[in-house]
Amino acid sequence: MADFIGAVDQGTTSSRFMIFDHGGNEVARHQLEHEQIMPRSGWVEHDPVEIWERTNSVMQTALRTCGLSGTDLHALGITNQRETTVVWDPRNGRPYCNAIVWQDTRTDSIAKALEDTGHGEVIRRKAGLPPATYFSGGKIKWILDHVEGVRAAAERGHAVFGTTDSWVLWNLTGGPDGGIHATDVTNASRTMLMNLETLDWDEELLEIFGVPRAMLPVIRPSSDPEAYGRTRTSRPLRAAVPVAGVLGDQQAATVGQVCFEPGEAKNTYGTGNFLLLNTGTTPVRSKHGLLTTVAYRFGTGPAVYALEGSIAVTGSAVQWLRDQMKVIRDAGDSERLARTVDDNGGMYFVPAFSGLFAPYWRSDARGAIVGLARYNTNAHLARATLEAICYQSRDVVEAMEQDSGVHLDVLKADGGVTANDLCMQIQADVLGVPVSRPVVAETTALGAAYAAGLATGYWRDEAELREHWQESKRWEPQWDEDRRNRGYTDWKRAVQRTLDWVRVE
Ligand code: ADP
Repeated sequence: MADFIGAVDQGTTSSRFMIFDHGGNEVARHQLEHEQIMPRSGWVEHDPVEIWERTNSVMQTALRTCGLSGTDLHALGITNQRETTVVWDPRNGRPYCNAIVWQDTRTDSIAKALEDTGHGEVIRRKAGLPPATYFSGGKIKWILDHVEGVRAAAERGHAVFGTTDSWVLWNLTGGPDGGIHATDVTNASRTMLMNLETLDWDEELLEIFGVPRAMLPVIRPSSDPEAYGRTRTSRPLRAAVPVAGVLGDQQAATVGQVCFEPGEAKNTYGTGNFLLLNTGTTPVRSKHGLLTTVAYRFGTGPAVYALEGSIAVTGSAVQWLRDQMKVIRDAGDSERLARTVDDNGGMYFVPAFSGLFAPYWRSDARGAIVGLARYNTNAHLARATLEAICYQSRDVVEAMEQDSGVHLDVLKADGGVTANDLCMQIQADVLGVPVSRPVVAETTALGAAYAAGLATGYWRDEAELREHWQESKRWEPQWDEDRRNRGYTDWKRAVQRTLDWVRVE
């Protein structure tokens, strides 16, 4: 009997497959990293073929480890790193170039030109986003302008665009042999090409970016009772499983954390950090540097919107300590090393590697370590890195409170970095509110599973999903007000030191 739900989580650093049961409990998982290709400063790429191969592999291994097969899956959900842009030839499935990853800043001159020519206002109004390197629209334009033959191919339908949800979906449902070219409304809301009110591609925005409509996927609800399509029996699951849920990773985590009511929020600590606040069925425009985005749309119901604070570099600063600086051997070492000192020794690290995202949106910023004295050690650097994760989150929480008037009583946290007990304690200290982590910390995959399970009747409704949510751990603030205020003031001074560094032509 098909009694489980599968979820593909095609993330920035790895691809994962997870299997859940009726209670929302994890039954199996497998995960494989893929290469981070950095051909020059500011460029970050992934190989889409490697991503698809890893996705295949994790699906097969996860099923094998729990003794299940594709026919045991009632439905499949997909969640993904958002904005990362793939352009491929639908006749043979070959990408025209590597995927341009969301962190990549090569489109800074495109973003600047959009502001300079006065298009910023219409993009903010229609798409809910400020012109920035982060979103897919500029990345598609870059590929159309720089990769030979793509523009002509796109006009003939021989070059199509997708974020990695679309890429995985197309491959799972047949690839060149009838693969479904679709995306969901949350992923589409990150392109700068979708109108937040009509939930469709917007002619004016397509024109601004010079993107032919023929290359874009169909936009579907995040949870679709009609299903996006079925997996082909020749593909990794070896069964015709309905793909019924698709959500960008942060929206999936919002669903996985059951933030279904206006005023409910979650913060995910992964490669970057993403705080989303459910604002209900009307989009709320930010005045303080947050994004307006679609949180989810279930079936034919109305779209539910969110205010989002996106931070580009949090967990990836820990990776940088490990891989580039060689200060630690694994991510967990960051905690052990930071615990050897009581405070940051006056050192602040602002990891503005991709400029600063929310609430600053400054592509001219670059990383800085400030306050250095002869006294400082690698332990202070480890501590400053963990603090940077928490201070950046405070910047976003402050913006969110100003935009929405909602005061958080507790912050719901999830993602890889929440394994770091010290970092979560610092977060509670820096914010002055408790931080709470659920039992299932893999809320991203869980949210995609929920979307697929709701669509196919595996789960009845949102109330049933709410019953699954259980707290596993809570961190209470320990700092006094004075320490909290002094730390945050110094952090903001450090941020100022990173601005106006890169010259954008
Ligand atoms: P993503 O879905 O963005 O790939 P994950 O939720 O899997 O991210 O989290 C991975 C990130 O978490 C990596 O950047 C890694 O450096 C960081 N991370 C994992 N474990 C720890 C830890 N114990 N302390 C600090 N950072 C950690």
